[in-house]
Amino acid sequence: MLIDLHTHTTASDGALAPAALVELARREGVGVLGVTDHDTVAGLDEALEAGARLGVEVIPGLELSSHHQRQEVHLLGYFVDHRRPALLEQLTVWRADRVRRLHQMVDRLRRYGIHLDADRIAARGAAASVGRPHVAAALVEAGHVATIEAAFDRFLADGKPAYVPRQRVPVAQAMAVVCAAGGLPVLAHPGTYRNDGMIPELVRDGLAGIEAFHRDHNEAATARYRRIAARYGLARTGGSDFHGLPGGTAHRLGQPSLPQADLDALRARHAAPR
Ligand code: AMP
Ligand code: FE
Ligand code: FE
Ligand code: ZN
Repeated sequence: MLIDLHTHTTASDGALAPAALVELARREGVGVLGVTDHDTVAGLDEALEAGARLGVEVIPGLELSSHHQRQEVHLLGYFVDHRRPALLEQLTVWRADRVRRLHQMVDRLRRYGIHLDADRIAARGAAASVGRPHVAAALVEAGHVATIEAAFDRFLADGKPAYVPRQRVPVAQAMAVVCAAGGLPVLAHPGTYRNDGMIPELVRDGLAGIEAFHRDHNEAATARYRRIAARYGLARTGGSDFHGLPGGTAHRLGQPSLPQADLDALRARHAAPR
């Protein structure tokens, strides 16, 4: 049985609806599935319902976009109570900033003679997260670029002409929001930041785990983060960061899979008094 604790659905920038993702998990032999959409928990009820129906254990989660100093850092939250009003209110505020930024990105593209309909891109329901991948898809659809990758390379990646940053949310604040919702805060894909020095600082602020296993970590990185987790007493998590992108054959659900012992340790940590 595979264990994949990092996946996205149409509630943020995944290609599959929550129930379709759970169905794929069952077909691919994933028995435990963490659903971790960017800045929203809107997909969780559907995923949990599908999981109960299909015999896939769905772990409720989310992935918050936050900052450590000037660097964007993604924070996973596991076992959150996704109905808690304070959590929902905070996420609503953060998603409103995404909509503000969407309009600014569309404004910038206009300078290049590209006219996208921001309201159409944003029409995903108030609980869903809109982001650069949706702008990229609109650019492809309108024929301005051939691929999502090209849309990022030419316009949307950090430093490119239509890039607009989001408001900075300190990672400590994101961790506090996860904890207040009864969840465990976990640093997502630490290998992508090239800044392991942040880890002890985050531990002091309440970090519970790090995502040692991630498709962007090679063997050396995985081994390093397993050691770092042991040194700081952190739980280890892992997953594919599956977005269900068409043609994204390299990103398979359940690859990498989290070892069962690490899942057991994560559960024990969640059950322990904090
Ligand atoms: P946002 O949260 O709106 O800033 O968008 C970030 C998301 O865009 C990430 O979670 C990825 O899913 C996606 N992304 C980032 N860079 C690329 C890229 N170069 N090609 C395709 N997708 C990307
Ligand atoms: Fe994403
Ligand atoms: Fe991420
Ligand atoms: Zn992710």
